[in-house]
Amino acid sequence: MQKTLTILGSTGSIGRQTLEVAEHLDIKVRALSANRSIDLLEEQVRKFAPELVAVYDERAADELRTRIHDTNTRIVHGRDGQIEAARESGADVIVTAIAGQAGLEPTLAALKTGKRIALANKEPLVCAGDLVMKTAREHNAEIIPVDSEHSAIFQCLVSDLLKNDKADGCLLSHVIEHSKRIRKIILTASGGPFRGLSGAELENITPEQALKHPNWNMGKKITIDSATLMNKGLELIEAMHLFSISPDRIEVIIHPESIVHSMVELVDGSIIAQLSNPDMRQPIQYALTFPERLPSLTKQLDLIRLKTLTFEKPDLDAFPCLRLAYKAAKLGTQACAALNQANEEAVELFLQKKIGFNEIPKLIESALDASGC
Ligand code: MG
Repeated sequence: MQKTLTILGSTGSIGRQTLEVAEHLDIKVRALSANRSIDLLEEQVRKFAPELVAVYDERAADELRTRIHDTNTRIVHGRDGQIEAARESGADVIVTAIAGQAGLEPTLAALKTGKRIALANKEPLVCAGDLVMKTAREHNAEIIPVDSEHSAIFQCLVSDLLKNDKADGCLLSHVIEHSKRIRKIILTASGGPFRGLSGAELENITPEQALKHPNWNMGKKITIDSATLMNKGLELIEAMHLFSISPDRIEVIIHPESIVHSMVELVDGSIIAQLSNPDMRQPIQYALTFPERLPSLTKQLDLIRLKTLTFEKPDLDAFPCLRLAYKAAKLGTQACAALNQANEEAVELFLQKKIGFNEIPKLIESALDASGC
């Protein structure tokens, strides 16, 4: 039977790439949701003919309703509309790709369906990881991570899973159980566009410079987070919840080529890694097809041409955001939520050129101190 899909956040970078994968795999799109980008939404409606589209902005929803009156797609709006898209689409897989904390409520609604959730937004895990994982367990929802590093860790764990004798026997709970065999998780980071620069050299970085990522093509918020290394900090917290492992067993290492997407070191000293060209369509497709493997849109990796893969220690003096994330991860949920909130605000201020690059960690540090955690 043909698989069906719902995408929460279909006009963002992950949403658009998910639709490319859906087209490639001939997956039927049941529902879409977006904030207000109705030009793109209209294109998506005409191409994929979903039954339901949730537009957060009410006026944009009205305009889209007028524009697509010749189609059978029903339009809903607001927070309730997003929840409806999550809850009532009846799709086999729900991709949660709404950026930032705004994605929490729709993600929880999606988990309550008990279906497979391809989790692409990290903030719900960062600011409410305990609640997200508890909701998944209570409703028997299967979380397959889409973030490339977490997909890599998941793939490494699954590859070593002896119990993998049933086609559908690899729910996340099995992976968590399996984590007792892990010595540590090695989370790789590209280092972003400013790798190797000192704190003083980072002082006058502009949003334009920070928005140019060397390897990955992503949304604005995550690109700035990659430049400050906060993205890796958020991913550290994400991994801690997803794989039920303490932060001191997660090591971040810089790997500028972004070919090894992360690694798992087992108690016997073996390290298992997942490699591919950096292309989000690979982890997206894996989350949709797991446990199947199908040919993807990702370009094959040419190791001979690549020749070398390099690894180095992150510079926590120049990039204190990563240090702050470790601190918050050890302090607990409240501190992680404070860190995430302060980071969202600081990144927005930086993008508006109201604060400098080095002020981002300073604002986060004072918010973390003020949170009393
Ligand atoms: Mg990532």
